[in-house]
Amino acid sequence: MNLTEQAIKAYAGQRRKMIEEQLLERGIKDLALMEVMSRVPRHLFVDSSLQQRAYGDCPLPIGENQTISQPYIVASMTEALHLKGKERVLEIGTGSGYQTAILAEMASQVFTIERIRPIVQKTKVLLNSLRYENIVFKVFDGTYGWRDQSPFDAILISAATPSIPMALIEQLADKGHLVAPVGGRESQQLTVLSKIGSRLVSREKESCKFVPLIGKFAWPEEE
Ligand code: SAH
Repeated sequence: MNLTEQAIKAYAGQRRKMIEEQLLERGIKDLALMEVMSRVPRHLFVDSSLQQRAYGDCPLPIGENQTISQPYIVASMTEALHLKGKERVLEIGTGSGYQTAILAEMASQVFTIERIRPIVQKTKVLLNSLRYENIVFKVFDGTYGWRDQSPFDAILISAATPSIPMALIEQLADKGHLVAPVGGRESQQLTVLSKIGSRLVSREKESCKFVPLIGKFAWPEEE
């Protein structure tokens, strides 16, 4: 059995329970997404001392004052992107790489930006060991987006922002969806922007609490 097979077998029961109690019961409907989340070994994306708690209904620390998002929030944000398999996706805030892996399973290519270099180095090793080959990493301030690779069919911002950076809206393709936690530092509203020709349609989902998006077009480094 190779690493990947072992990883998938471990905690299968807890993953099933997570899908039933945290996702299905709260109204997640995307079956392909739930199939993916029943496979991706979330316990490998946290420190070994936290593995027993990896499938709990909460975010967990991943070092550098950052957190891996709660499973339900990962599901809700991913579902909002309506991925069918052919999309090119931009993710801002790679963090543990758990959300990145879910996106890589559900789309054709993922471009992910993280500002903290040691986080990227660690996450890259893990995602490579799990054999994801459709992820491109960049260490940068994601509030600028990734202009060279734009437009993107879907954009996911994994950190709290006072407003959606303009560059990201510009880099969203026609008929594309962008999801982000928008609001203050203490709490935000998951917000979905859809681009329809020259029109932008905005819709709000549940409230949430993310670590801040720190960069030129979001929060300053210190406050
Ligand atoms: N989806 C990730 C979330 C990690 S927390 C997970 O579940 O693990 C949010 C991440 O966004 C942190 O790693 C933080 O360093 C990163 N971040 C904050 N501001 C950023 C910016 N301007 N550009 C890129 N990444 C940023």
